[in-house]
Amino acid sequence: MTQIFNFSAGPAVLPKEVLQQAAHDMLDWHGSGMSVMEMSHRGPEFSSIHRQAMIDLRELLNVPANYKILFQQGGGLGQNAIVPLNLAGRRPDPVIDFVHTGTWSGKSAKEAARFARVNIAASSEPDHFTRVPARDTWRLSDDASYLHICTNETIDGVEYPDAPDVPADLPIVADMSSHILSRQIDISKYGVIFAGAQKNIGPAGLTLVIVREDLLDFASPQCPSAFHWKTCAEHDSLYNTPPTYAIYIAGLVFAWLKQRGGVAAMEAINIEKARLLYAALDADDFYANRVDPAYRSRMNIPFYLRDESLNEQFLAGAKERGLLQLKGHKSVGGMRASIYNAMPIEGVQALVDYLNTFAGR
Ligand SMILES: *Cc1c(COP(=O)(O)O)cnc(C)c1O
Repeated sequence: MTQIFNFSAGPAVLPKEVLQQAAHDMLDWHGSGMSVMEMSHRGPEFSSIHRQAMIDLRELLNVPANYKILFQQGGGLGQNAIVPLNLAGRRPDPVIDFVHTGTWSGKSAKEAARFARVNIAASSEPDHFTRVPARDTWRLSDDASYLHICTNETIDGVEYPDAPDVPADLPIVADMSSHILSRQIDISKYGVIFAGAQKNIGPAGLTLVIVREDLLDFASPQCPSAFHWKTCAEHDSLYNTPPTYAIYIAGLVFAWLKQRGGVAAMEAINIEKARLLYAALDADDFYANRVDPAYRSRMNIPFYLRDESLNEQFLAGAKERGLLQLKGHKSVGGMRASIYNAMPIEGVQALVDYLNTFAGR
C-alpha cells in the first residue's frame, strides 16, 4: 500500500491502528460471529461498546458529573437548529448572542435566526476573520438565552486560546467540531459543547453533545423528540437507533487516545506539529497565513501562495509525494492543511519538506 498523508478537513484521517482493528473485527466482533453493523443497538455486545465509549470519553475530556454526554446524529449543521430548539426557550422573549469569527459561526447565527432573535455581539468580519474580536468589544445582551461561539473555525483557521469570560448566568454554547480532543479544555466553563465526529473523532454520522444538566429541559414544543436533549439523556442516547458503527469507531479512537497518554499528550504533539508548519509558512513571503498568531488554529491551517498562478502546480507536486487533499475550501481558495490528532508528525514533516522544496529554499 502506498504511504500517503491525508490533510482533509473532514471527513478526515483516522489512526491507522484504529482502521486495522476495525478491519480485524469486521466480520466477527470478539467472537460474536457478527459485524458491529449487524448488532442490535440494545443487545449486550453493542451495549458494552457504547458504555465503554461513554466512559472513555468522559475520562479523556474530564467531563464533570453534572454534564450529560449525548451521542446524536445530524452533524454540526443539525445542531445549529437543535441547539436553539432546545435552549432558546430558556428566556421568555429569547435573544441569542453570537460572536462571528468565520464561516461556521456565521452559518450558526443564520440558522438560529429562524428560531429566535439573534444579536451579533462581536464580529471579526471587518478584519477578514483573522482573529477573535477583543473581549472588551463584545456587546452581549442583558439577558440572552445563551452565547454561541465556534471555538475553532475550520475554514478560516481561527481558534480561541481559552474559553471567554462571560457573566455566570450566560451559558456558552461552543461548536468544537474541528478541535475537540486536540487540547485540554475546562468543560465547566461551557453550558453546551457539540462536535460532528468526522473531523477529530471518527466517521461522519455521529454528533457528540455535552450538556450541563440544568440546561437539558428548555426545549420548545416544536423540537423533534429524537433531538430533545432531555429525552436523549434519559434514554442514555438510545431513545432512537444511534449511529452504532460510528460509535464503535469513535470508541476505538478514544481507546487509542488513552493509550497514547490522553488529551494532554496529544496537545503537546499538536503544539509541535502546528509550530513546524507555521514556521515553514512564515519563513519568507512565498506563502502566507493571514491569521493573527494569537488566534492561529492548531488543527486547520489555511495558507496562500504569493503567486497564485502556481496553485495547480503546487497541488500536483504535493499529490505526487502522497500529500493529499491540500486544496483550500472553495469559499476562501488557496490551500489548507488539517492536522488533526490522527495526523502523525511525520506527515507534517513531509509537508514542511515539500513547502521548502517548492519555494526553492
Ligand atoms: C464541519 C463543521 C460543521 C458542519 O458539520 P456537518 O456535520 O457537515 O453538519 C460545523 N461546524 C464546524 C466548526 C465544522 O468544522
